[in-house]
Amino acid sequence: MTKAKIKIYFSKGNVGKPITYELVKKYDVMFNILHADINYGSEGNLITEISGEEKNVADALKYLDELDVKYKMYTKSIIRDEDACIDCGSCTSVCPSGALTMNDNDELQFDKEKCLVCELCIKACPIGIIKVEL
Ligand code: SF4
Ligand code: SF4
Repeated sequence: MTKAKIKIYFSKGNVGKPITYELVKKYDVMFNILHADINYGSEGNLITEISGEEKNVADALKYLDELDVKYKMYTKSIIRDEDACIDCGSCTSVCPSGALTMNDNDELQFDKEKCLVCELCIKACPIGIIKVEL
C-alpha cells in the first residue's frame, strides 16, 4: 500500500468528467479528498490523497497524464518544534483543512494527513517554530 498527496487541476473541458470515478474503478485506488475548489463549468482544483497498491497508484497517475490532466505531487511536509510551541492557537485560525486544531486541554494537535502544505501556518506562528521540510 502506498499513498500520494496530489493537487489535480481541472480545466473547463475536464470539469464534469468522471475522472476520479474512473480512477477508482480502473485502478482500485482510494481517494481522501482534503480540499476542493471546483465549480461546474469552470476551472478548479482538488487536493487529495490517493492510496492503493504501488503499481495501481502509479498507473492511476499515468492515466491522468494520458488524459492530459495536470497535477502536482506534494513532496514537502510541515514540521514544528513541539517543545517550543506555546499552544497559542494562532496557526489553527488560518489552517484551511483542520490539520491544526486545539484539543480539550488547549494543546495544539497536528494531523499530518490533513495538511495541504499551503504554508499559511508558518506566517501565523508568532515564534516561528513551523517550517517546511523538503
Ligand atoms: S500548511 Fe499549515 S495551515 Fe496549511 S494545511 Fe498544513 S498545517 Fe494547515
Ligand atoms: S502558532 Fe506557533 S506557537 Fe502558536 S500554537 Fe501554532 S505552532 Fe504553537
